[in-house]
Amino acid sequence: MAVETRTSAFQTAQRRFDAAADVIGLSDDARAGLREVKRELTVHFPVRMDGGSVHVFTGWRVQHNISRGPAKGGIRYHPNVDLDLVKAMAMLMTWKCAAVGLPYGGAKGAVACDPSKLSLGELEHLTRRYATEISILIGPEKDIPAPDMGTNPQIMAWIMDTVSMHSGHSVTASVTGKPVDVGGSEGRNEAPGRGATYLTLEALKYLHVEEETPTVAIQGVGQVGRSAARLLTEAGLRVVAVSDSRGAVYNAKGLDLAALEEHRQVRGGVSGFKKAENLSNEELLELPVTVLVPAAVQDQITGENAGRIRARLITEGANAAVAPEADPILHDRGVFVIPDIIANAGGVIVSYFEWVQDLQAFFWEEEEINTKLHHVITRAFYEILHTSVNKRIDMRLAAYALAVQRVANATTVRGIYP
Ligand code: NAD
Repeated sequence: MAVETRTSAFQTAQRRFDAAADVIGLSDDARAGLREVKRELTVHFPVRMDGGSVHVFTGWRVQHNISRGPAKGGIRYHPNVDLDLVKAMAMLMTWKCAAVGLPYGGAKGAVACDPSKLSLGELEHLTRRYATEISILIGPEKDIPAPDMGTNPQIMAWIMDTVSMHSGHSVTASVTGKPVDVGGSEGRNEAPGRGATYLTLEALKYLHVEEETPTVAIQGVGQVGRSAARLLTEAGLRVVAVSDSRGAVYNAKGLDLAALEEHRQVRGGVSGFKKAENLSNEELLELPVTVLVPAAVQDQITGENAGRIRARLITEGANAAVAPEADPILHDRGVFVIPDIIANAGGVIVSYFEWVQDLQAFFWEEEEINTKLHHVITRAFYEILHTSVNKRIDMRLAAYALAVQRVANATTVRGIYP
């Protein structure tokens, strides 16, 4: 009988690591430590629901590596999460932080739940109990959570308050992505879209794109896609198509983003916008645009459609929007990809600024934050680009190679305890 062997998310993460380890010639001893996660905590905890019944939820917090500093990574609330996925995402955070030069290791957390089906009170109880369960791992010097899919600034405020109640004083640096009122940072909400915008502009320069008004298609108008659309337009590009989970809209002359946002608020989606034609998400991906920004979900550009992508540049706003089989096809066709590991790193970079501001209790103006974000993310882009050109590898492998080398250096110089 044939046995189905599906590659798990963590196995895919390990394969990406192995490819980078091959590029830098990492020793077997060094590989062995970095291929596994350092700590994995599974928690089962009860929450009293509004109707009086008790529901037991399952959650996780995983730290992949802490050689370069405290662990950093988001918390996801989603029905389809498991330990394997959390381990994969924790490993990605280690490489993401190292790729952009932040003094952090990588972590991730999750609770298997559908937040849209919980009342506000249930969500708060779940969050406070989960934060208590993982409190043996988290803290400002140890492991600093942040929002991810299904979580938001309010949830971060509850986690910060729970940690603070246990400590007897306010510990604002215990999480990032908080509301500004409780130690959050200016510019944090827009940071992933802003970082993606800065890198798109650098890549267009590098590629010598000489069109007067480069065109852009953006899949997903959530936190990342919406700010990227606004900031790319401000930078002089023309956004011709955007989408949400229900469909896309297209206008070759450029979309009126303010009118579209009004339409979206009223209708609950972009489809049916009067000043544009409706398309499917699949059609949006294959439009003849200069820049394609997938900013929705994973596995959108695959081995199947990579041959039909007509964009010159892909800025991978969403994590893993480009599937592993698509990378070589895009590379061979000369489509330049700014990989997720740096394309959306603006989020974790400004989270780092938030943590620094909380620790020193001194807060910066938004302009200063944006300037610092620009410096950190463009420096990382050119370091990765040089590695890519020198070693003749694509940008993703180059980013991984640089990141793995940095973590391996830290691990080696620290040595093995005892
Ligand atoms: P979001 O929930 O705010 O927005 C997601 C958007 O994608 C929505 O417009 C939704 O309608 C659309 N969408 C959902 N499923 C779709 C589908 N199948 N096809 C087309 N569109 C679909 O999410 P976000 O915070 O903007 O995150 C988007 C991606 O960026 C995720 O991969 C996330 O992990 C990544 N990311 C987010 C941040 C952040 O700080 N928000 C940071 C780094 C990475």
